[in-house]
Amino acid sequence: MATGKINVSVDNIFPLIKKFLYSDHEIFLRELISNATDATLKLKHLTSIGEASVEYGNPVIEIKVDKEGKKIHIIDQGLGMTEDEVKKYINEVAFSGAEEFLDKYKDTAKDSGIIGHFGLGFYSAFMVAEKVEIITKSFKDEPAVHWSCDGSPNFELEASDKTERGTEIVLHVAEDSTEFLEDNRISELLTKYNKFMPVPIKFGTKTETLPKPEGAKEEDEAPTQEVDNIINNPNPAWTKQPSELETEDYQNFYRELYPTQFEEPLFHIHLNVDYPFNLTGILYFPRLTNDLNSQKDRIQLYQNQVYVTDNVEGIVPEFLMMLRGVVDSPDIPLNVSRSYLQADGAVKKISSYITRKVADKLASLFKNNREDFEAKWNDIKIVIEYGMLSEDKFFDKADKFALYPTVDGKFFTFEELQEKLKTNQTDKDDKLVILYASDKEAQHSYIEAAKAKGYEVLLLDSPIISHLMQKLETSKENISFARVDADHIDNLIKKDEEQISKLSDEEKETLKKELEETITDKTFTVQLEAMDSESSPFTITEPEFMRRMKEMQQTGGGGGMFGMDNMPEMYNLIVNTNSDLVSEILNTKTAKKKERLINQSLDLARLSKGLLKGEELTNFIKRSYEMVK
Ligand code: ADP
Ligand code: MG
Repeated sequence: MATGKINVSVDNIFPLIKKFLYSDHEIFLRELISNATDATLKLKHLTSIGEASVEYGNPVIEIKVDKEGKKIHIIDQGLGMTEDEVKKYINEVAFSGAEEFLDKYKDTAKDSGIIGHFGLGFYSAFMVAEKVEIITKSFKDEPAVHWSCDGSPNFELEASDKTERGTEIVLHVAEDSTEFLEDNRISELLTKYNKFMPVPIKFGTKTETLPKPEGAKEEDEAPTQEVDNIINNPNPAWTKQPSELETEDYQNFYRELYPTQFEEPLFHIHLNVDYPFNLTGILYFPRLTNDLNSQKDRIQLYQNQVYVTDNVEGIVPEFLMMLRGVVDSPDIPLNVSRSYLQADGAVKKISSYITRKVADKLASLFKNNREDFEAKWNDIKIVIEYGMLSEDKFFDKADKFALYPTVDGKFFTFEELQEKLKTNQTDKDDKLVILYASDKEAQHSYIEAAKAKGYEVLLLDSPIISHLMQKLETSKENISFARVDADHIDNLIKKDEEQISKLSDEEKETLKKELEETITDKTFTVQLEAMDSESSPFTITEPEFMRRMKEMQQTGGGGGMFGMDNMPEMYNLIVNTNSDLVSEILNTKTAKKKERLINQSLDLARLSKGLLKGEELTNFIKRSYEMVK
């Protein structure tokens, strides 16, 4: 028997490992299964290049929990270790055998899928175990060895009678980690970290029902048999070529990934690059609910099919965080801080690759089936609009397929919209006026007024749309957005002939004075305008600029005007001097009746703008009943 001291510079590294190395103790299992997987894949590689003349077979990694004995076993049929290799790879902490292997076989092994990198994974076992044993037999013709270590830097190494090739790791679970002796807890970890690892992983057995033998009676029970319970899918969809997969395969994989999601995703994007970095994955556009903060079922990050995290911040561009799916890359430095990650060149490239792929996919969906794209627009617009706001490169591409729906369910691209509006929707300065509504119901009368004049009204209702409009107004020439209630429609859009006021200047002055005396609510600024006689007598408008700034401040960023949210609501009351009712108001002799007409008209205008509420609404209704009596 040999004994010795593990070669580390600090006298006792284990308390350090336990405390600081990994904040999550549960990852010990992921690390040990990764090593077992590496050992298996290395053997596969060596047999494939003829450097190991053994039968590779159908190796399985087995996890066993011995609750009574307080032990966890991780057993593989990989290449194993000789005594010298144990000394070298295990005793020299932080000497990564994986790195060395990849280095030695750099030309042939770069696609072998080997996980290890840092040479510290094995020691994570001491986060949960007070003693660890390795019983291992190399594929080379050398005796098996038995290594054990109780957490002090002293190890023991002796011969073992193990005959089958491979390695068994035995963890003697420490008192503070007995949670890991529960089958449920282990199952949970296997599902989280190992569900898509490339070598089959067995955990216990399960009962399988066999077909009934021929001639069996109805009441006979079907025979059953105990089979290995394999917890993983070693060939998940993202590791395959897009050409091997049908839409259905992508949908099935979505369900595999998110078993509790019942809705089908809208579409998928298969990521697949190997230069200048390695990355595979599948992203799905889900039907987005309005609850944008829903944090469950996020994109998962894998490294060579090992689950790492579902915090993909910095790797996936922020506007795509609402998507679902998998990103797998061996090139993402995982053991480094997030802020470093954001500055890392490779990671930046990954992020912009993902952005480009998503933009290209959307462009091709738009081009190949516009009708379908339009049907899905409502469910994907937030992501696209957010992307246009946050990434200029995405903006340039999305500008060609981003859609602007009208209140009547037509869809225009920006270019089509410009073409459509240029003949009859410009303002005094020949600027294109893009009319929009944010709520078809609430702004109904304004929409109708615009449509009556033959104008096109968009329906733009995303929470961030005000930011996007702001961006479009600055990046495009000669356009402006105006909500239908931003001003009287005839003020928004240039008319060929000027309306002539039926009232004289003197009459107008009197009218204005009377209105201002009667309307005591100072949130309304009275504005007399000569409109066509059919236009409504009183219209309440809310200037675009102020309203939009307020909205932008509510949805974060952008607006940036200090103290905007404390600003009182300000409205204009546009009074149509050409309307008969307004003439009647002016000509009414009795003061009481005049006041009644003004207040009733104002309330109707407020009602139409959705401003009449509570007590004022109750009074209005009471008053109206009195009138119709
Ligand atoms: P890494 O995986 O980053 O190389 P680890 O600390 O996880 O570092 O493992 C150290 C080394 O120990 C591995 O590179 C490998 O050579 C060896 N090793 C660990 N587990 C096994 C195993 N199950 N079978 C064969 N070799 C193993
Ligand atoms: Mg490892």
